[in-house]
Amino acid sequence: MTKSLYNDNAYLKSCAAKIISVDDVTVQLDQTVFYPLGGGQLGDTGILSVNGEDYNIIDTIWGEGTKISHILDRPLAADAISADVTLSLDWQRRFRLMQIHTCLHLICSMFDYPIVGARVGPDKGHLDYLTEGAAIDKIASNEILQDLIAQNFTIETEKVAEDEFDEFMQGRHLIGGMPPVKNGVVRFVRIGDVAAPLDYQPCGGTHVLNTSEIMPLQVQSIKSKGKGIRRLAVQFSG
Ligand SMILES: [Zn+2]
Repeated sequence: MTKSLYNDNAYLKSCAAKIISVDDVTVQLDQTVFYPLGGGQLGDTGILSVNGEDYNIIDTIWGEGTKISHILDRPLAADAISADVTLSLDWQRRFRLMQIHTCLHLICSMFDYPIVGARVGPDKGHLDYLTEGAAIDKIASNEILQDLIAQNFTIETEKVAEDEFDEFMQGRHLIGGMPPVKNGVVRFVRIGDVAAPLDYQPCGGTHVLNTSEIMPLQVQSIKSKGKGIRRLAVQFSG
């Protein structure tokens, strides 16, 4: 397996790692700070350094089981395969992904419509709501979002046993579907107080620690995508 260091600390920017397998441009490691594409959030990019040489990691995806595949821009040199490597995130891009991902949790708390799609990119993100034709007002939505961001909610994660959350899941609207179940537990993300959280759901993505870090994201547009779906998009305001 690949140990997902970003699960316990999304602010880690680099780590050392050992190679466990190589297939052309795909490298799997014993641990990583790179988040793999999933739950609507894009995979991380950055640099893999080995033997004094840098390779660009152009994408990160799940491999088989719990292995994480780092996709390089060119095959590793043969003598690199047995060496220790250093991973360094494109942190600016990753932090923007964390900001947008966390922002989508806030938006998730604002409406009670089923979520049928989500995307977290480095420049913008969106949630697709099945509103069955009901309109969502852009200006009012942005006012609510800015108010939530300004309340400086903390974001925390916890592990919940698989058999404890089945009932909890009934009727819930999740941003990115269920995250992977590892050793019978699922990672939950909570925004705000334990007693009365603003948002609480299983999620395997990367988040900021406080909503004050989300600024300056705004509701950019709300568009009909047909079939009763409204797409609410957020973007950095400048
Ligand atoms: Zn999340």
